[in-house]
Amino acid sequence: MALGLDDNILMTRLEPLANWLANWGRANSLWPMPFATACCGIELMATGASRYDIARFGAEAMRFSPRQCDLMIVAGRVVMKMVPVMQRIWLQMTEPKWCISMGACASSGGVFDTYVTVQGIDRFIPVDVYVPGCPPRPEQLIQSILDLQVKIRQTGTVTGKEFAKRTKPEGPALVDARPTELVVAPGDFSTATRQWEK
Ligand code: SF4
Repeated sequence: MALGLDDNILMTRLEPLANWLANWGRANSLWPMPFATACCGIELMATGASRYDIARFGAEAMRFSPRQCDLMIVAGRVVMKMVPVMQRIWLQMTEPKWCISMGACASSGGVFDTYVTVQGIDRFIPVDVYVPGCPPRPEQLIQSILDLQVKIRQTGTVTGKEFAKRTKPEGPALVDARPTELVVAPGDFSTATRQWEK
């Protein structure tokens, strides 16, 4: 049977092909920034170890240098004092970047319904995937990475126009954790090396 011209030629535009290629590479080579502050971090370590081995999904290259990472995994409760640190690390990571909130504490404060504990990190940085549980099992974290890969494949563009609106830090302004007044605590602090600036 003779085929017509339209049956033989794959018509495509360069941009969708480039997007597909970029998304394929990004989704399968995530470099996590482990922001592990509590017990969920142990499950994060287990996920990277040989039994679960997230290298099978291309996400094993954990780096503690924000500029080399594109996936922040917040594992554990975050207290208000840590918020400036978390925000600074997030801002130092290069675009495109994504965030997984691992566990009940990171996602909602968990059982720590107190003024010192952040009641959900999405109040301060954008979150792409939430992982429920206390703690979530490694299988759940792996599933969240697979879900994130789907999201990256479906939404990413090679020009990064999906992040065009991120011209300034998202969410509330950076928290200034310094007290406005000099804190005078009882006790002998004559050997203290750190003083708050007035
Ligand atoms: S969710 Fe549970 S396991 Fe995770 S940091 Fe909170 S208390 Fe710990």
